[in-house]
Amino acid sequence: MTFNELNIIDRIQKSLILAGYSEPTPIQVEAIPLLLEKKDILGSAQTGTGKTAAFAIPILQNIYADKNHKEDRLIKALVLTPTRELATQISENFTIYAKYLNIKNTTIYGGVSQKRQEEAIKRGVDILVATPGRLQDLMNQDIIELKHVEYLVLDEADQMLDMGFIKDVLKIVSKVPKNRQTMLFSATMPKSIEALAKEILVEPTRIAV
Ligand code: AMP
Repeated sequence: MTFNELNIIDRIQKSLILAGYSEPTPIQVEAIPLLLEKKDILGSAQTGTGKTAAFAIPILQNIYADKNHKEDRLIKALVLTPTRELATQISENFTIYAKYLNIKNTTIYGGVSQKRQEEAIKRGVDILVATPGRLQDLMNQDIIELKHVEYLVLDEADQMLDMGFIKDVLKIVSKVPKNRQTMLFSATMPKSIEALAKEILVEPTRIAV
């Protein structure tokens, strides 16, 4: 299988060649066609499988394809992830794949001053990668608005629940329009994740890698 056979646009394929990706990983082969069709997915996948690109590439391609997007720099995609390290990695991946797209992303996480994060948000971004606590803080201060979000990702959902983020996650999700695509990834699938999936996903396809 090739990225070309997965119908990835040339502008993204060019960035993948630069990144040294010669072919899609199994989770990418499975997830990309579904996500390009804007289906919800429930993925059990560990880090290291290429799961970030599996969701990041279709999100970028769908935003790029949306004729209404016109570089308005409103937040169209939100990725929730448990830690600063993961947020940074995901953001770096979006930046690599978006090299030829003019689609901007930024990160929001706790433990550092919020000033720079606030400034980046005010300059405008298309994609926000955030940890739940800090995002909730910035939403409470009316610095972040999620009413234009069309793509929502919960990454490492089991870890977010283990870290006690469930309340924040549910509150954040409640502020995202219902008419959206939702992707939930978790290394493990305990009952609590199944319950969360049932609440926030619509007829999801299950993917296991
Ligand atoms: P992840 O599972 O998303 O943390 O990705 C693990 C690593 O695999 C990252 O360093 C990615 O840049 C890399 N990667 C993702 N997809 C591919 C691919 N199709 N070919 C080669 N490397 C990849």
